[in-house]
Amino acid sequence: MNDWTIIPKEIITADKNRPVIKRGTVIVKNGKIEKIYSKEEWDESKAEGKVLNVPNLTLIPGFVHTHIHLCQTLFRGTADDMELLDWLQKRIFPLENAHTKESLRISAQLGLYELITSGATTIMDMGTIRHQEVIFEELINSGIRAFAGKCMADLNDLMPEFKESTKDALSSSYEFAKEFHNKGNGRIKYAFAPRFVLSCSEELLIETMNLTEEFQGSLFHTHSSENKNEIAAVKKLTGKENIEYFNSIGVLNEKTVLAHGIHVNDAEVQMLKEADTRIVHCPSSNLKLGSGIANVPKYLGNGINVSLGADGAPCNNNLNMFTEMRLASLIQKPLHSPTAMTAEEIFHLATIEGAKALHIDDVTGSIVENKSADLVLLNLENPTMNYFDGLNSTYSNIVYSANRDNVEYVFVEGKMLVNKGVYALHNAFELYSKAKEQLNILLKETDLK
Ligand SMILES: [Zn+2]
Repeated sequence: MNDWTIIPKEIITADKNRPVIKRGTVIVKNGKIEKIYSKEEWDESKAEGKVLNVPNLTLIPGFVHTHIHLCQTLFRGTADDMELLDWLQKRIFPLENAHTKESLRISAQLGLYELITSGATTIMDMGTIRHQEVIFEELINSGIRAFAGKCMADLNDLMPEFKESTKDALSSSYEFAKEFHNKGNGRIKYAFAPRFVLSCSEELLIETMNLTEEFQGSLFHTHSSENKNEIAAVKKLTGKENIEYFNSIGVLNEKTVLAHGIHVNDAEVQMLKEADTRIVHCPSSNLKLGSGIANVPKYLGNGINVSLGADGAPCNNNLNMFTEMRLASLIQKPLHSPTAMTAEEIFHLATIEGAKALHIDDVTGSIVENKSADLVLLNLENPTMNYFDGLNSTYSNIVYSANRDNVEYVFVEGKMLVNKGVYALHNAFELYSKAKEQLNILLKETDLK
């Protein structure tokens, strides 16, 4: 059922050994990329499964968003034009705290709809404190590849009722990891998710890192150094800079994936490098919350892994890799040079570098034989795209000109999740009306309306 012969206009592989294959053919068998033929090697007798002959479409690896909050999708537009700590205290924590199973389910469905139809095939989600099983159920049901974990918080001066005891945070996370790590044919992995220093005790952070040892392939996913007021509060609490603090308590290593990393000093960059810790750059969120601009060229120059994420809908307000790619390139140019962050480099951050951040680059992130068939077909042949086929013109199209409307097909493990732009799992109009209904309930509950 999931076997395909895909014959596109071109294949942009995100593999440095063979970056662009013009008029090649990809054979997908049992969910994997079984064979890639060049135009010269191909003949029709080699076809397997259904044939998708699409000479106007470009095949790319699916996008990897390494920092997402599915639980917040429902809150889009409820928290615009605010500063991070206010944004958390006045809107996001009260709304997350009010989630019912039903509202959380709709929020996750909305997020997955938006991510998958804009070409995401892998995400890492931060989760929420209550009803986390709902997020796992929706992730499994959607067919996407995902890392996720229950959000952990045992301190919370911003909203004291939105937290739990250290023991409960650890034991419930452990139970979820036991239940969901490697579920969904191995597509689902557990990412322990202590929220950020201001909502986590030292004991919680250290014990959480210890838990990752028990689940091979699991990760430690948190926020760090996002906002100047936040790092001032971290310094008051711990006497240290954010990453310096993580390093001092032993939670900085190759399994640590840090969202943001904006306000980071030189010594901390060296700590990240030595620890092989990964940074997730979320440019829309960083600009909208006025947090600042992460020094991505400096990270890359130091060999530190950087990938991209849309963060949550209320601080973006899109969940769309095209937006993040374009911004990730443009915002560095006035600071560094117009030659910084080329379209090709950015495309790699959105694909193979995301897979490396999650330690699954042997499985996904590029179009290479034996990897999973996590694939996207884009239609870049229309009047809003480049009109020439010169060197790098496809990277330019994808990063600078394209958007979600260019996505025609999305596959995860060979399963078609988007067919000619239409999402297979949910009807968009039904989702929208359920979202309005559920958000109104939460707004009344939280007195925000
Ligand atoms: Zn976040």
